[in-house]
Amino acid sequence: MDEIKPVVGRFAPTPSGRMHLGNVFAALMAWLSARSQDGEMVLRMEDLDTQRTSAEFAQTLREDLQWLGLTYDRETPPQSTRGPVYDTYFHILEEKGLLYPCYCTRSQLHSVNAPHLSDGTYVYPGTCRNLTPEQREAFHRPPAWRVRVDDRIWEFEDRVQGHYFLNLAEQCGDMVVRRADGVYVYQLAVTVDDGEAGVTEVVRGMDLLSSAPRQMYLQELFGFPHPSYAHVPMLLAPDGRRLSKRDRDLDLGELRKRMTAPELIGTLAYSCGLLSKREPISPQELSRVFSWDAVRGDSIYLDEFIWKGI
Ligand code: GLU
Repeated sequence: MDEIKPVVGRFAPTPSGRMHLGNVFAALMAWLSARSQDGEMVLRMEDLDTQRTSAEFAQTLREDLQWLGLTYDRETPPQSTRGPVYDTYFHILEEKGLLYPCYCTRSQLHSVNAPHLSDGTYVYPGTCRNLTPEQREAFHRPPAWRVRVDDRIWEFEDRVQGHYFLNLAEQCGDMVVRRADGVYVYQLAVTVDDGEAGVTEVVRGMDLLSSAPRQMYLQELFGFPHPSYAHVPMLLAPDGRRLSKRDRDLDLGELRKRMTAPELIGTLAYSCGLLSKREPISPQELSRVFSWDAVRGDSIYLDEFIWKGI
C-alpha cells in the first residue's frame, strides 16, 4: 500500500509592511486547507529584498498571525540568511549546463522591441544565450544568470483556478535565477525553501499563478516532488480596485483596532463563499466546515456592506 504523505502547508509572507486584508485571506486559506487535513504549517519570511523588508516587520507578522489564531508548527530560516544553500542549488543548474550569464540591462529588457504578452510581462528573447567568451568579457561587469527553459507545456490542476498550463519557452523565456548583484531571485529561493521544508501544498494569491510552472520546472531540476497548488482569488474594493499595502486602513494595524479576530475571519469566510452569513468564527471552527469546493475562483468584490463594516 502507498504510504499516505502528511500534508505540509506554508505561510511565506514578505515582511515589508503590515499584513493587509488580502494577505490575511491568503494566510487563512493556507491554514484552513492544511489544518482541515490535520496537516502541519510552516512559516518562512521571504526577505530577499533587504531594502524593503525588516526584522521588525517580521516580528509584527508573527504577532499578527498569533492574534488571528493562525498557528504554525515551525519557522524555517529567513531567505536573507540562505545564500550559501541557494549557491548549492545554483551549482546543480550549472552542472547540468543550463546556466548562462546575461548582460541585458533593465531598459533593454523592457524596450518596445522586446516581445510582450497581453498581461504586460515580456518574454526574454534569448539575447545572451549564445555569446562567445570574448563577447562576455567585453562587458566588464558582473552578469545576471539565467536558466535555459525548454519548449514544453507545464500543466497542473489548481484547486481553485482549475486546469492551468504554460509553455515557458513561449510565455516566459529563459529565467533569471541570480541577479547581477548576487541576490537569488524569488523563483529559485521559493522552490528550494518549499522543497527542503517538505511542503506538499502551496496556497497563495492568484497573482502568483503563473509562477507555479516556473517553480515546477525548477522542482524537477532539483529533484523535488511537485506540491499541489491553490491560487486564491484577489480581494477587490467595491469599485473594483485591487487591495494593496497602500490601503492603510485595511492593514492589520488598523483592522485590529476595529474588530476581533473571529469577526475578521467570519467576514472573509462569508466573502469567499465559505459561510452563508456573516458571523464571527474562529479558525478552528471554520476548519471543520472548510472545503475547496465552496471557494470561488473569480475575484472577490467586497460589497458596500462589508466594506463599511471593516
Ligand atoms: N512572499 C510572497 C508574498 O508575500 C508569497 C510567495 C509565495 O507564497 O510563494 O506575496
